[in-house]
Amino acid sequence: MILLDGKYTASQIRAELKAKVDAFLAAGHRAPCLGIVIVGHNPASETYVANKMKACAEVGIVARKIALEDTVDEAELLSCVTQLNSDASIDGFIVQLPLPPHISEQRILSAIDYRKDVDGLTAENIGRTVQGLPSIVSATPRGISELLCRYHIPTEGKHVVVIGRSNIVGKPMAILLMQRPYLLLPKMSAAAVGNATVTICHSKTQHLKDICLTADIIIVAAGSPGLLKADMVPEGATVIDVGITRVDDPASPKGYRLAGDVDFENVAPKCAYITPVPGGVGPMTIVSLLSNTLQAYEIHR
Ligand code: NAP
Repeated sequence: MILLDGKYTASQIRAELKAKVDAFLAAGHRAPCLGIVIVGHNPASETYVANKMKACAEVGIVARKIALEDTVDEAELLSCVTQLNSDASIDGFIVQLPLPPHISEQRILSAIDYRKDVDGLTAENIGRTVQGLPSIVSATPRGISELLCRYHIPTEGKHVVVIGRSNIVGKPMAILLMQRPYLLLPKMSAAAVGNATVTICHSKTQHLKDICLTADIIIVAAGSPGLLKADMVPEGATVIDVGITRVDDPASPKGYRLAGDVDFENVAPKCAYITPVPGGVGPMTIVSLLSNTLQAYEIHR
């Protein structure tokens, strides 16, 4: 069994991104700039934003944080998005989710210019990905694609089971995997996975175990700790665990630990490759936001 080390792979990609940024600066260009909008004081969101800003600093991307109180109304947030769309000094920006319940995430995301949508969540970017057009792919599927490519795990002709159908992970992941890879332009898109036969599963799927047992690669993004058990995994499979759920753990100093969707201890011995949680998909997601920002910078420059 080989552990897919997202932490190490992400550090390698950060070094590559830093070299690219340094080359742009040496050629007299300005540094790439990422805007990060955060509304309110959700502790998990604040941690994610802090991690993203730290990662930006490491590669030389300027991160500009726009912190709004959770009393902000939808019109004010929309106006903030409009300003960021037209701010030529910002290459891309994200609106950290979730938003407070009085604001429609759908309306906010729809207002983002897709060329600056470095989270890859606008209907335009998702639609372009479906059509095989140059697009910005959401960070988690991009990160998983990079991980598979860098470990030389082929997807062509393989049966990939994706558990989860969210707009942010499951759906775009399935699209990338079933695409003809040559339709994705190298400068604009994620690493080339594709040509797989994909089955998408969700909470209403029947016979999940039987479906998983026919998989070469299983990607679980359900947010259900320990969902994927050893008796659901064929010998020699590759398992990618996207899940991150905080579960109470009195033994941990924080009072909780992060749990994946895979029963790692029992599944890992059956696998050819498997991602750990933490240290697998998580770091790849953060570094992919940086890759997307550089992609947007290269388009705008
Ligand atoms: P989501 O929007 O809640 O979607 C979860 C999906 O899983 C839904 O499609 C749901 O089915 C399906 N599902 C839930 N329980 C299931 C079950 N028992 N059997 C089969 N399918 C089931 O979640 P998400 O945003 O995609 O995130 C999923 C997990 O990944 C969460 O733990 C999240 O924290 C984590 N995540 C991690 C990263 C990272 O960087 N590592 C990034 C993003 C998300 P229905 O559609 O039928 O409800």
